[in-house]
Amino acid sequence: MVKFATPKGMRMPIGKHKGKLIEWLLLKEPFYMQYMMSTLKQDDNITIYANDRIEHFNSKPFLGKCKHENKDGTIDLLPITIMSVYVPSDIPGSIMWFCDSCWESFDKANGAPVRTYEDAILHGDTWFHRTKRATNRLLEYMYRAKGLRGKLTAKALIEFFHN
Ligand SMILES: [Zn+2]
Repeated sequence: MVKFATPKGMRMPIGKHKGKLIEWLLLKEPFYMQYMMSTLKQDDNITIYANDRIEHFNSKPFLGKCKHENKDGTIDLLPITIMSVYVPSDIPGSIMWFCDSCWESFDKANGAPVRTYEDAILHGDTWFHRTKRATNRLLEYMYRAKGLRGKLTAKALIEFFHN
């Protein structure tokens, strides 16, 4: 039997967050990570590693189901694919969850779709005026819905970002 090495995560080698896990920084210091990744070269190890983790984050499904009502009144449980955030609000309190089909028929004036990590950063940056607290909450809604529970320990983060 071949046993592969367990990923141990990567720690930030430089800067004011030196020693912190990249996985933790992506969730808790998203603007700092954006800044670092835009400053460093594209082929820098940190940038490559962080982009891989973001890609992995995005590939993880939301675990909840949409109670989808069919035209005949029956209910199907369909996978949730979209988190929507209420745009006119200044605080990210109005989160709704949709399957693809329900999203199709939803009035888009009432919510912006957040499908990816990048979407969460974008909305934190624009709708919520680049406030770290609001962006962190958007990301928290996402990672909780994707199955990361409890405290953000190194063990939990590495499990979540590598499996
Ligand atoms: Zn639905």
